[in-house]
Amino acid sequence: MDEIELLIDLHRQGFRQGPGSDKATQQALELSQVGREKPLHVADIGCGTGASTLALARLLPNARITAVDLFPEFLDVLKARADEQGLAQRVTTLVCSMDKLPFRDGEFDLIWSEGAIYNIGFANGIGDWRRLLKANGLLVVSEITWLSESRPEEVQSYWDSQYPEIDTASAKMQVLEHAAYSPIAFFALPQSCWLENYYRPLQSRFDAFLERHSESEEAARLVELEQKEIAFYEKYSPYYSYGMYVCRNVG
Ligand code: SAM
Repeated sequence: MDEIELLIDLHRQGFRQGPGSDKATQQALELSQVGREKPLHVADIGCGTGASTLALARLLPNARITAVDLFPEFLDVLKARADEQGLAQRVTTLVCSMDKLPFRDGEFDLIWSEGAIYNIGFANGIGDWRRLLKANGLLVVSEITWLSESRPEEVQSYWDSQYPEIDTASAKMQVLEHAAYSPIAFFALPQSCWLENYYRPLQSRFDAFLERHSESEEAARLVELEQKEIAFYEKYSPYYSYGMYVCRNVG
């Protein structure tokens, strides 16, 4: 199995593939003040196994949701969950890269993306996706964000190497404004979204994962990398989190 296949195998059994919570999804939706009565077309981009897609489908009974991810294995899990929850009729899945979305201009009332836009970069993604929104359509996107203006050298250089686009919330707001979005709200995900909802469940799957792959070197290396990421977060959590950005297309 190559590295990507291992990564998918480790993460597909997770309820979510990144930090978050149903509560945060609901909070961002409320802040967006999206009209819930009218029919809505929503895209959830980089949806993974669909934690946010399914929360949105429950919270927006008049919405059709198109859930997009690069990996069909994640979307298969999403489809099964949507089925179990009686939501399948309103959820369509699409295997596609988020930088090659095949949608028409102005197709969506709301674009949602949690913990995924970094794959193509924040400025690039919000710029590209704006054409898909109706005039005054809404974008809710989460992005790694500095929680303070200054931080220790070790956490700065780690993120400089991992994702140099990391910045403060005020700087991200400016990026949104320059791309013709009007910011509505921002909040940072609390620690529970990382530890209780993402890292602890992930850690609880490590033993079974290693066993499934006969303790192979590649599987052990992946687990070690994940453990390092978790230890790093535990040490430096006051300095960074995902920021949830809620804004409107005013271009
Ligand atoms: N939104 C989900 C959540 O919060 O649980 C998943 C977040 S996970 C950190 C990032 C997701 O982006 C994964 O599901 C991954 O498969 C997807 N992804 C990575 N590159 C992508 C691309 N180029 N196009 C679409 N999805 C992509």
